[in-house]
Amino acid sequence: MPNTPRNSRISGFHRMSPQERRDTVAGFAGLDAAAVERLADTGNLDAGLADRLIENVVGTMNIPLGVATNMKVDGEDVLIPMATEESSVVAAVCNAGRQCYETGGFTTSLSGTLMIAQIQAVGVADPHAARLRILDRRDAIREVCDGCDPILLGLGGGFRDVEVRVLETAGGTMLITHLIVDTRDAMGANAVNTMAEKLAPRIEEWTGGRVYLRILSNLADRRLARAHAVWHLDAIGGQGGGEAVRDGIVSAYQFAAADPYRAATHNKGIMNGVSAVVLATGNDTRAVEAGAHAYAARNGSYSSLTRYEVTKDGHLSGSIELPMAVGLIGGATKLHPTAQTCLKIVGATSAERLARVIAAVGLAQNFSALKALATTGIQKGHMALHAQNIAMMAGAVGEEIERVARALVERGTVRIDVAQAVLGELRGA
Ligand code: NAD
Repeated sequence: MPNTPRNSRISGFHRMSPQERRDTVAGFAGLDAAAVERLADTGNLDAGLADRLIENVVGTMNIPLGVATNMKVDGEDVLIPMATEESSVVAAVCNAGRQCYETGGFTTSLSGTLMIAQIQAVGVADPHAARLRILDRRDAIREVCDGCDPILLGLGGGFRDVEVRVLETAGGTMLITHLIVDTRDAMGANAVNTMAEKLAPRIEEWTGGRVYLRILSNLADRRLARAHAVWHLDAIGGQGGGEAVRDGIVSAYQFAAADPYRAATHNKGIMNGVSAVVLATGNDTRAVEAGAHAYAARNGSYSSLTRYEVTKDGHLSGSIELPMAVGLIGGATKLHPTAQTCLKIVGATSAERLARVIAAVGLAQNFSALKALATTGIQKGHMALHAQNIAMMAGAVGEEIERVARALVERGTVRIDVAQAVLGELRGA
């Protein structure tokens, strides 16, 4: 019989129950009963809640949640919940935290909890004069924005300022209004989007133009989280090797600062730590990632989010600055029970504290990665866990995993074919 082509136009899929959707997907993709059963196991997220958080739910995707130790942020010891599938990420934070613990850990700050919403107006005949007409109506704008969110207003947040840019584009001159809003303990996307939408008809009225987009900017450069730490030579090098480690890290930073190819990987490492905490606390990883990378390119060339220099005493000083739009309210933060537990573990009672701790984690992650890269190379630290993953991929179970992994590391070749051979030898024996 000829194969009938599979059809992705599944009528009413969104109206089905998760079980009906699983059965439908199983038919389409040829999933066996065991796979469907695994999808149905939603772990620590209630199936009904999952079904309300996003559309067309068929299951949940569990990834490991680890806790990093040794971190001291602004004089306070803190445990860091981290959700990630990548090995060495949690260990990197523990190691960096340990090596600066005695010298005070991390000091941090946040520039504010301000978010920006953009309103795009096109076809404005007199953009420069229209810009002034908008700026002149600051009080009216405040009234519209604050009227949208009495809860936020009651908590001391709300409209703070308006800025207007005349932007030359391929499609002609555009007038871009920025609403600057203090969103307090919320990440604030919904809050500022509502304000932008509400204000849009007034912008059309004042400018004579047509408004298209009304949406927050993820380049949250009014919400910059900063962290700093000093690593002493004896803590990072031991036995007089501190200078070489320090100089290797500074050189690695200089490489990233000068080269986008290196900076992309450098910043990816930072985001290994940042995104793991953002995800663990139910925050929006894509929002934070977009902000970080846009900020890294703000001067026209993509560069490093961290900086390293040598203190007057010869120690290593590291710092980081990046947008950190995270909240304790809204999105999945309040709804996902594990996110709530993670917020308890990290002990953040304000969005500001959470943002500051995450900046420290980003710097910690980067320090460890650069230290490994500038000394033994990244693979040595990776190997033990990576070898276990390869052992499992080769079919090792239970105690075999550790034995195969150890054999791979000893042989210095962590490859699946070698793992299969070792497993065969083990089982044969
Ligand atoms: P939200 O609207 O669910 O919650 C914020 C609201 O909670 C505030 O407007 C306020 O009325 C209320 N609130 C109660 N207590 C508060 C407190 N202590 N501080 C501040 N507000 C308090 O969520 P949100 O933070 O506005 O939006 C976040 C969600 O928006 C995330 O899920 C994100 O993924 C999503 N989102 C993101 C983008 C983007 O990043 N481009 C775009 C659209 C939506």
